[in-house]
Amino acid sequence: MRVVTWQAIETLSIDEVAAPECGPSDVVVSVGACGICGSDVHSYTEGAWIAPSVPMGHEYAGTVIAAGSRVSGVSVGDRVAVNPAAPCGSCPRCTEGRHNLCSAGSGHSGGFGDQVVVRDAVAGQHLFVLPADFPLEEAAFLEPLSVAVRAVEHAEPPLDEPIVVFGLGTIGQCVVQVLLARGARDVIVVDTSPRRLAAALAAGAHEGLNPADCDVRASLFASRGTTASPYQPSSGAVGSVFECSGASPVLPLAFSLARAAAPISAIALAAHPLSLPVDDLVQKELRLLGSFAYTARDCQEAFDLLVSRRVDVRPLISHRFALADVREAFEAQRDPATSIKVVVSP
Ligand SMILES: [Zn+2]
Ligand SMILES: [Zn+2]
Repeated sequence: MRVVTWQAIETLSIDEVAAPECGPSDVVVSVGACGICGSDVHSYTEGAWIAPSVPMGHEYAGTVIAAGSRVSGVSVGDRVAVNPAAPCGSCPRCTEGRHNLCSAGSGHSGGFGDQVVVRDAVAGQHLFVLPADFPLEEAAFLEPLSVAVRAVEHAEPPLDEPIVVFGLGTIGQCVVQVLLARGARDVIVVDTSPRRLAAALAAGAHEGLNPADCDVRASLFASRGTTASPYQPSSGAVGSVFECSGASPVLPLAFSLARAAAPISAIALAAHPLSLPVDDLVQKELRLLGSFAYTARDCQEAFDLLVSRRVDVRPLISHRFALADVREAFEAQRDPATSIKVVVSP
């Protein structure tokens, strides 16, 4: 069988390897679709978070082709979405339910390949059985949608106030849809890609702003008003902000847009350290929250949103490629003007 491995910057190889053996607690999945994550693109272009010969691909779904004797709840022939996270379950963070912060976890990578073995597979935790006919390319969004659910769950944004989402890659798009599914009444989306703005507006976002065409701060101060807080005579009136772009001007801008006590959720990784207006943070008691990965509970909620189509990821699929064309697929994903989510299928 084939698997895609990272070799060096902008160099992927498609390796021929032995098919995985299925132990008594394992499940082997024949991959049907695997999405390219923003982190995969950073690995591809910069060598971030990866080493030579490591298999790539963690956003995948497929069909069970082998299940060990100790596995229950999944059978050969089931079509499944895979949660690739494998926290240890016993470290201090896992013990308090923060499995996303596990200090000893591993993961099931290799979704850009013909088959993946999920070790110690537990149905409803690592594998979610899909309804009949639910497309595998949609099921491959389970992982990024779980990240979005985590961010919203963790930030607890007030849903009746303006919410600004910066950066409309897959995670930002999923954050928008999770907010709308929860009843958010005024979601403003910001991105430089007209394609990505249009997708978020089509999904129900209330207003789109392109920083290439307008001054986002002035526009939101004019349309959503301003607030005063201690030593801050002219703050914005935004109730919460989600930073999904990784662009360095965004967090300082978010500090200015937010009303006092607003949550600001940082989801995108930034390549470089930032300088931030700390006085805004202090004097407005902003709640600056990192959000990383997801817990099993977030994943279950993401699965429910996905299969009920209360989050509809179909319009987010911008390109489809065969596994043999994985390099072209990565090149397509790295262009924000034309891509949202590129899906690769063996
Ligand atoms: Zn990912
Ligand atoms: Zn752990």
